[in-house]
Amino acid sequence: MSNCIFCKIMSKEIPSTIFYEDELCIAFDDINPQAPVHVLIVPREHVATFNDLGEDKKELIAHLCMVVNKVAEIKKIQDPGYRIVINCNPAGGQMVYHLHVHVLGGRHMSWPPG
Ligand code: 5GP
Ligand code: ZN
Repeated sequence: MSNCIFCKIMSKEIPSTIFYEDELCIAFDDINPQAPVHVLIVPREHVATFNDLGEDKKELIAHLCMVVNKVAEIKKIQDPGYRIVINCNPAGGQMVYHLHVHVLGGRHMSWPPG
């Protein structure tokens, strides 16, 4: 999608720190990190929100979960632990309408989230 920040990061129109990519998704560091490790995993396909993940996206959903694991391994946060966040729509705090998984680690996460 032409006016989408994450599509522009994907096409390298906007610079980022992409450190992992495969046929279905990319992963890069968040520009405004909320923890020492704050990664965004973004599918290559422009899916707007979590609500758009239907039956036809089962393979993508499973793949994103697998990549969370890979990212946690690369960033060395598997053992201490980490948090996975997907914000959906305004009440969920979503700012960029291209589906993405936040992976946060490197510090203790409190609960409940803000
Ligand atoms: P959301 O609130 O939609 O779940 O999260 C969007 C995230 O994208 C935010 O954490 C924000 O810091 C990040 N972000 C927005 N624009 C850019 C950008 O141009 N580059 C990078 N690396 N992250 C961005
Ligand atoms: Zn997009």
